[in-house]
Amino acid sequence: MNIHEYQTKELLKGYGVPVPGGRVAHNVDNAATVAEELGGERWVVKAQIHAGGRGKGGGVKVASSLDEVRQFTDQLIGSHLVTPQTGAGGRLVQRVLVEQACDINKEYYLGLVIDRGSQRVTVIASASGGMDIEEVARATPEKVVRETVDPAVGLMAFQCRKIAANIGLKGKQIHAATKLMRALYRCFRDQDALMAEINPLAEVNGGQLMALDAKMSFDGNALYRLPAITELRDFDEEDPKEVEATGHGLNYIALDGNVGCIVNGAGLAMATMDAISFHQGKPANFLDVGGGASPEKVGNAFRIVLADPNVKIILVNIFAGINRCDWIAEGLIKAMQDQQIGVPIVVRLAGTNVEKGAQMLAASGLDFIMADNLDDAATKVMATLGGQGS
Ligand code: ADP
Ligand code: MG
Repeated sequence: MNIHEYQTKELLKGYGVPVPGGRVAHNVDNAATVAEELGGERWVVKAQIHAGGRGKGGGVKVASSLDEVRQFTDQLIGSHLVTPQTGAGGRLVQRVLVEQACDINKEYYLGLVIDRGSQRVTVIASASGGMDIEEVARATPEKVVRETVDPAVGLMAFQCRKIAANIGLKGKQIHAATKLMRALYRCFRDQDALMAEINPLAEVNGGQLMALDAKMSFDGNALYRLPAITELRDFDEEDPKEVEATGHGLNYIALDGNVGCIVNGAGLAMATMDAISFHQGKPANFLDVGGGASPEKVGNAFRIVLADPNVKIILVNIFAGINRCDWIAEGLIKAMQDQQIGVPIVVRLAGTNVEKGAQMLAASGLDFIMADNLDDAATKVMATLGGQGS
């Protein structure tokens, strides 16, 4: 789960990471009030969307008067900001962060990720931070410093000093960077984060280090024990189909293929996607309807899968253990009767009450393409798609 920059900064501030003074604003008057209360002569108005590259897309604007704060807020809120990370459609901006503008001497990069190779939290830092860090990592990987954290002891001060020295910090800054990195690590660990990124970590007027941008994402499976983080969730930034699926107790993840998948069990859903890919197809989604898939759940699954206009065929793959094939069949028949399903449906049923389920589907007179096993199902999906000329 991702959160906005202003939320990340608020969170990190609580752990002792220095951030510029600032607050979120939802409209022009709001923004002007925030700027006035912050004081000073220059402010930065920053579009709050769950995507980076805002600087390059015109989503970060420096204002030298309250009028400009108003003007920039008016331009940003309600617009679709296109950045190198949003895709051509951009993202609707619904709020801005108004914060003090800092005079920047130098921009560094600091990030924490979970390295799957070592299975440990890893600190990544670079002297060349700012808006082109992706290019730095690609063209000059030697400019990126890494340090692995031993979970038994956490991020040690000596490791932080080493990173700080390796990115060219000196004297007092090394001490400040050590405090900052350890605060960031504490937040990362306490809040079950998957990623934290401060880019730029800036050296500002007077040599102080400050997080000018901050981004964090959290483990969705840990949200049950993170009530404060859960509250920061912004549903407007998520795929509406995924949000609806969560509400129905379905586990849905949108993908970019054309074969809709309705499957029970996460492992079987993965295997189904593999089988489709093996036959040169592309799944449109991952969907786990769970153990006790009632007819209503199956109906909801159809609606969500069909909300994706790319879906040209649906593969229903059920291995009923806790589930019952006759329930699934009831759900399938009802969905076909209630909804406008304009695409072919391939069904593979196995397990509890499979004969009864198959009989119900056959007796319904509806047009299901029955498959004997997963491989047969994937083959029939591709043959049917081929027959449609897509
Ligand atoms: P993004 O990563 O989405 O492009 P950032 O928050 O990193 O957005 O902002 C882009 C650039 O704008 C930064 O690299 C920095 O140079 C500048 N910037 C951001 N916040 C401030 C600030 N408070 N004061 C001065 N410059 C800023
Ligand atoms: Mg940034």
